[in-house]
Amino acid sequence: MYPAQFDYHTPGTVQEALALLGQHKDDAKLLAGGHSLLPAMKLRLAQPKHLVDLRKISSLTGIKEEGGTLVIGAMATHHAVESSSVVKAKCPMLAEVAAQIGDPMVRNMGTIGGSLAHADPAADYPAAIIALGAEMVAEGPKGKRTIKADDFFKGLLTTALSEDEILTEVRVPAAAGKVGAAYMKFPHPASRFAVVGVAAVLTMDAGKVSKASIGITGAGTKAVRAKGVEAAISGKAADAASIQAAAERAPEGVDVQADLQGSEDYKKHLLKVFAKRAMEAAAASVK
Ligand SMILES: Cc1cc2nc3c(=O)[nH]c(=O)nc-3n(C[C@H](O)[C@H](O)[C@H](O)COP(=O)(O)OP(=O)(O)OC[C@H]3O[C@@H](n4cnc5c(N)ncnc54)[C@H](O)[C@@H]3O)c2cc1C
Repeated sequence: MYPAQFDYHTPGTVQEALALLGQHKDDAKLLAGGHSLLPAMKLRLAQPKHLVDLRKISSLTGIKEEGGTLVIGAMATHHAVESSSVVKAKCPMLAEVAAQIGDPMVRNMGTIGGSLAHADPAADYPAAIIALGAEMVAEGPKGKRTIKADDFFKGLLTTALSEDEILTEVRVPAAAGKVGAAYMKFPHPASRFAVVGVAAVLTMDAGKVSKASIGITGAGTKAVRAKGVEAAISGKAADAASIQAAAERAPEGVDVQADLQGSEDYKKHLLKVFAKRAMEAAAASVK
């Protein structure tokens, strides 16, 4: 099916894009990689009258390190994240997450900003972004603001971004101390979206977990922090028994949804299994 008719805009700067959003308000939609928006437009689930393409805004691309913080432009494609030497050196888990998204075509077109702004409940980045304690930078008519990952995902396809804001970059803080991180997902066999995905970041001190940061995606309507798992593993050795006991708490706080992929009980079971695998892999990767 063809999308409904729209006017197409190609601003060269964030300010120009913001002006277009201000001018066309609810009739305008930002376009990044188009891999979520265009299917929705073809199904007429979205019918923007104005499409504001961000691809000519060079300031939104690029990946760099700034005083230890990993700074990823919103228009960085999944492939750019997956293949970036800076990401691989500073935060290898994020490169691994990007490499598990969809297929090469999706990874060459889809962007980290588009994925986070879209907030698909089965998207991969949100779990990692929460576990890594990242921050999102948004620009709007009132200027720039920073939103913590914990406050960013509000519900099904809903984020803390306003209609008149553009997500410009993702900032991932440097890991401090002896840290291990891993992302494990149960991929949908056709799309590779996460039926369940768990990202774990474990900080170790004197053989014990001094800090645990666990993000969950896929099972509910939005990505969440697994506070029960974090509390259960903190202060313990990252051994098989402690990890197993902590993983049992993975469904806590997740509004698990039964759907074509599985029942509520099945999804809860997957959450426990993948929380265990993510923590095991994170513990094994501690440096
Ligand atoms: C076949 C297929 C398989 C896929 N498999 C996976 C998978 O395994 N895992 C996964 O996580 N994802 C998967 N995806 C989704 C993919 O990652 C998309 O790229 C992503 O969801 C959206 O990114 P985009 O750049 O294409 O955004 P677009 O589709 O262009 O935009 C999505 C939404 O975000 C808004 N938006 C975009 N950029 C910004 C911005 N900078 N600021 C504010 N709002 C913005 C748009 O207005 C739109 O509402 C798959 C998609 C397809 C088609």
